[in-house]
Amino acid sequence: MRRTRHGRRRARAAALALAALALLAAGCGKEGSPPVKGPKPGALPVYHVDTGFQLEDSPTWRAAKKRGHLVVGAKEDQPYLGEKDPATGNYSGFDIEIARMMSASLGFDPKTIAFRTIASANRETALQNGQIDYYVGTYTINDLRKKQVGFAGPYYIAGQSLLVRADETDINGPEDLAGKRVCSAAGSTPLQRIQREYPKAIAVAYDTYSICVDNLLTLQVDAVTTDDTILMGFAAKAPDELKVVGKPFSKEPYGIGVPRSDNALRFALDDALVAHEKNGDWKKAYDATLGLSGVPAPQPPPVDRYPAG
Ligand code: GLU
Repeated sequence: MRRTRHGRRRARAAALALAALALLAAGCGKEGSPPVKGPKPGALPVYHVDTGFQLEDSPTWRAAKKRGHLVVGAKEDQPYLGEKDPATGNYSGFDIEIARMMSASLGFDPKTIAFRTIASANRETALQNGQIDYYVGTYTINDLRKKQVGFAGPYYIAGQSLLVRADETDINGPEDLAGKRVCSAAGSTPLQRIQREYPKAIAVAYDTYSICVDNLLTLQVDAVTTDDTILMGFAAKAPDELKVVGKPFSKEPYGIGVPRSDNALRFALDDALVAHEKNGDWKKAYDATLGLSGVPAPQPPPVDRYPAG
């Protein structure tokens, strides 16, 4: 089959992108590029397990106590936030550390947590069905979601941003998205914002951001949009192929999702967050995880502790 010049260039770009994808999947950098960064041994805090802790008012806590461990929902494909090692099944990242701190404060050894990967679109149902006790995974607190679930926190504030291929010159902010294919996760706030505020962009939705990034590298989409935290992690892992552009254009306060009616659990998690921010665990965990994608630890935001209702 004869290829046009454009076709050849596309094919070459796709081959390069596939090679980059293989590197991403293998979790290693190109020869000469910096080695993959990950928490240094001993850099992660060891959380004090509050063995005498009681929370009889919380049905979620009582069921977990009977079971002997917590079941926590998380992401498994978000660099430095929530990642699952396919070889060992271990989860790591900032959100995972937040989940572990909370477990220790609730009286459960963090080593015993059973993590379950739950995509953005399925978080509310997972909490409503009792599939998980709580959820930690770049989960924006907002009023609409508060009708379905409860939120402890916030424990971090992210902002929506854009990820493009390193050689992209046309897209520098959301106003450049008209006619461009922009990928985000189904059920996420960034997807909703693009559809609502930038209707000229062609929104493409998949279950996860890693699928969006695959599509970006193979030229199926022109940009990926979600929180800067997530995008910077992907860019840090493939700096020759990807870059984050423009300024964040929203505020995404991250909360710990809990069953809506379990106010006792929500307040206990708020207390636990404050305690781990005060004793230095929060900063140490941040520095060893999300901090590796390049942003120094900010001051943690004040927890909201909105009234039961
Ligand atoms: N924080 C945003 C949200 O909760 C985007 C990240 C995500 O999908 O987890 O929708």
